Order: sequence, then structure tokens, then C-alpha cells
Amino acid sequence: MQRTLAESVSIEGVGYWSGETIRLVLKPAAVNTGIVFRRVDLPGKPFIPVHVAHRKNISLRTSLVKSAFNKENLNNPCVEMVEHVIAALVGMRVDNCEIQATSAEMPAMDGSCLPLTEAIEKVGVHEQNYERIVYFVDDVICVGDENAYVEVRPIETNYCAATDLPSEDHSYPWTRSCSEERRLAEARFRTEALACAGDAEGGLCKEVPGSIYSYELDFGPNAVIERQCFTWDSSIDSFTENLAPARTFLREQDAKVLRSRGIGTHVGPEQLLVFGEDGVIGNELRFDNECARHKTLDMVGDFGLIGCDVVGHFVSRRGGHALNALMVKELLLRIANVPCIAFSDEELGILGGIAPVFV
Ligand SMILES: [Zn+2]
Repeated sequence: MQRTLAESVSIEGVGYWSGETIRLVLKPAAVNTGIVFRRVDLPGKPFIPVHVAHRKNISLRTSLVKSAFNKENLNNPCVEMVEHVIAALVGMRVDNCEIQATSAEMPAMDGSCLPLTEAIEKVGVHEQNYERIVYFVDDVICVGDENAYVEVRPIETNYCAATDLPSEDHSYPWTRSCSEERRLAEARFRTEALACAGDAEGGLCKEVPGSIYSYELDFGPNAVIERQCFTWDSSIDSFTENLAPARTFLREQDAKVLRSRGIGTHVGPEQLLVFGEDGVIGNELRFDNECARHKTLDMVGDFGLIGCDVVGHFVSRRGGHALNALMVKELLLRIANVPCIAFSDEELGILGGIAPVFV
């Protein structure tokens, strides 16, 4: 079933880029609302939908505008750096939520979305009387090139464990195992699972897994951040434990460039991870592969812009917000041609995703 917050919850903080203080109030919302922002500080308190059509091209973060047709208009209400807030809701399996904001840029918090997930845990989540709608990826889709790409493929059963690194030639265990024959067999399995949806006796539905997100971070030899990998299985427990605490990061050289432009001068190394020649500066890692975990968190937030649940194995090698958005657009092209089918949680298990904005 779809889920929303049991009660409103608020959080306050300062934006990394703007330095402005912002207060967020996350409110329960009706079924099929999805996740939606509302700028309560602006005249008319405009809503801003969480959908890729409203995404504005801006580097190093994900931002949304109200009007999808005139994105450069300075009077177009916007919300900035939304990926960590959306990731917190998707990861906690909150389908419907109105996020009231008093400024454009989301609070930096500690660079992760842990403060937000803790706030959500405190008020709890409420089940709603309406089923979730799910799209199953049934083909391999890839955007990018061999240097940096994002790929999604039908779910397989034998994916690598959370800390397994792919081999040096970047062929992942799951890629090697995915023969064309196997892929077709799994596609048949899913078709049968779809066919038994709603049938309490149909055992196949119970075996349909949730999404898997894998990220490989690789800045090349001798980089200040070493090559690392992470996989999340879309369970809520694993989200709060393994993804929510992972903080955003940057290299010292990039921090210096930003500061020379007057950006982030109010941000200290204790508010995010800054990597110099000798490792993290003025801070301590929460996980050895915290950077790969954070990039996985960004994937979860960015794929929230699809607007409905998509079940597949998402794999990113060196990908970022722009490639994530390209993948979302590719998926939407396919989803538009395929009817989404409603499942209950008993049939599907816990999935990461948000409610549909179209059916
Ligand atoms: Zn991030």
C-alpha cells in the first residue's frame, strides 16, 4: 500500500550554496499526490512537482522549477539541491508528502540525509488505502559512455555484495551472469509474476524482488579518493543504516575553486567531507566507502524524479546527477508505452520509490 507521514515533521538548516536559512515542514499527503514541494514564502505559495520534466540543468546538484516551459525565467519558483530530501522520503518508502519550504535551497544538514530520516522515524509512517503502482524494467537501458554510465537491467538474483568491487575491467559479477538466455528466462518469470498479480494463490508474486542500486566510484589512479563500490537492496533498514548517514564530499582542489568564486565560504570541513592528499580534512569517515554510498544515495534521490516505482537493477559507474536525469527520461519514454500495474506490498516486498503521478 502507499504510505505517508503519520504527522507533520519539520527541520531547519542552512543551504551549502546560498548560505540562507530554510525551514522545511514535511506534511502528510493524500494517495497519488506523490512528493511535491511548496514554496510557502512566495506569493500564492506555488507547488513545484518532483518530476524530471521540471528539472533545471545546473551542475553538482538537482534543482526543480515550477514551470517546465520557461526554466530560465528568474521569476520561475524553484527548489534547489533537492536530491537528499527526496532520497530520504524514497528510502523510507514515503509515497505521498507535501514539503513546505521557506527558501529555495534545501538545508545542507550534515551533508547526509540522516537528520531527516531520524525526524521521519520519530513521527512514523502511515499506510494508506491505495495500492502502489510499479513498472518492471524488462530490458537493458544504458546512458553515457564506457567512461561514465548509468545502466538499468531487469532484476537478477545474484548481484554482488555491498562491498564487492567489480573486476579491473569493470565487468561486474551480475553482468557476467546475465546471458541473453538468462535475461529472457527472467523476463518470462516477471511476465508470469505480473499475470498472477492480485491472485492470493499466486506464489510467484511473493518472489518478485525490489530494486537494487549499485555505484562504482573511480577517479582514476592516485586520486585522493580511492576506488570504491556500494550496493543497496532498497530495504528501509539498510537505508537508515547504510545510506542515510553517508555524507556529500568533494576534493580539496574543487573546494578551493568554489571558494575562490565566493561559493560555500560559510561551509567548514566539518559540514561535509573534503579530501586532500592525506585523506579527509578536519573530519572522520563514517564508512570506508562513504563516498560510494553517498553517490548511491544521490541515485535514489534522482530516480525519485521518475514519479512512479520502477523495479530494476540500477548500476552507475562514475555517473552523476546529469546521467541520472538522462536515465529517468529514457525510462519515462518506455513507461509511457507500458501500462503500470498495481501490487500490494505483500506481493512485492518493500520497494524504494514514490507514488505515480500518471497511470
Ligand atoms: Zn549528494
